[in-house]
Amino acid sequence: MNGYFDCNATTPLHPAARAAWLEASDRFWHNPSSLYHGAGAARQGLEDAREQVADWLGCGAEDIVFLSGATEANNAVMRHCASPGSESGILAAVSGLEHPSVVEPARHEFRDRLRGIPCTATGVADLAALPEMVARDRPALVSLMAANNETGVLQPWEEALSICREHGTAFHCDAAQWIGKMPAGNLGQCDWVTGSAHKFGGPKGIGFLKVPPGGRPLRWLRGGPQEERRRAGTENLPAVAAMVAAWAAREKELSSAENRAAALAARQGFEQRLRTVLPEAGIIAEHSPRLWNTVLITVPLPENVKWLVRLSAMGFQVSTGSACSQGGGASEVLRAMGLSTEKLGQVLRLSGGWETTLADWLALADAFATVAGTISQRPPGLSTAAAVLS
Ligand code: PMP
Repeated sequence: MNGYFDCNATTPLHPAARAAWLEASDRFWHNPSSLYHGAGAARQGLEDAREQVADWLGCGAEDIVFLSGATEANNAVMRHCASPGSESGILAAVSGLEHPSVVEPARHEFRDRLRGIPCTATGVADLAALPEMVARDRPALVSLMAANNETGVLQPWEEALSICREHGTAFHCDAAQWIGKMPAGNLGQCDWVTGSAHKFGGPKGIGFLKVPPGGRPLRWLRGGPQEERRRAGTENLPAVAAMVAAWAAREKELSSAENRAAALAARQGFEQRLRTVLPEAGIIAEHSPRLWNTVLITVPLPENVKWLVRLSAMGFQVSTGSACSQGGGASEVLRAMGLSTEKLGQVLRLSGGWETTLADWLALADAFATVAGTISQRPPGLSTAAAVLS
């Protein structure tokens, strides 16, 4: 049984990624910037990977910058667009659903020049006011993620992109949760796109940033001339090769309508069984279009951590929310969706992967039923700490 249901936090390394990492480490260990013959192969390996990523996104290979992941990429975008010389002004609009790696640098860089894009109670960005705002305020950047990491809700990023296009405004899409789960084509139309390998079976610490062609060149990390002077530091070619191998495996899965339908049916099977075995549970953004792998639920009292601990003891790994908001207070995204403080303490995020089967999802639903039984049988008066550990 595969009891891992926290794929939106990270995923295990795909075997193809591991093989590619080992092969690249052996074959391409030279510094791609060195001039002798052996390094040429490493340089070629890096450029082949760049072309492959550009091909999936539908953009030019010269627009792809490799870096350490989506956090770095999102920081680079905000810094670049807020810095003097930015062509279209200094204001930015960022949706209320964004990951902290977008929100925090946006707040830091744009301060009182940051505008919000609201979201509905169903977890979808509300773009009704965006055309007027973009026309009036001429922001330097609009940012909307492709799929939300907490709810799994798919966002209208293509609509936001076309609004921005009409007004010549740059558009940034954080696609960290989309890539590997949904087809990547069309994302390359966005000016800026960020992605992270460890969300789809690649290694940690590697990702990419798609930058707009032409215009003011990105100068993010300064130092050596790597990545066309856009991101200094010796390239992590084995990790890049592993990211491409994992991505290739995911695109292959995505190319099969049968696979996609089975993955969605597995999660839906869970939801159906959960409704039967634990009718008091709720599904957040139930009727919104969601990633096939994600379901955010509310469990009945006691609070979510106690459910998590009991599920963990039974071999199921779930999350109380986004790994990036753990310890950082309640989720701003769920607050923006209007969840009460009490409900926030009852949320559990379940995110499977391509390897998660219907049987795994159903076993998880049955585990919820078992936990519901043990929680209600808990003797009264047990201390909170003991209850959490029990
Ligand atoms: N954006 C989103 C939507 C994410 O889910 C995450 C990872 N939680 C990130 C950005 C940050 O990615 P990384 O781990 O590569 O820094």
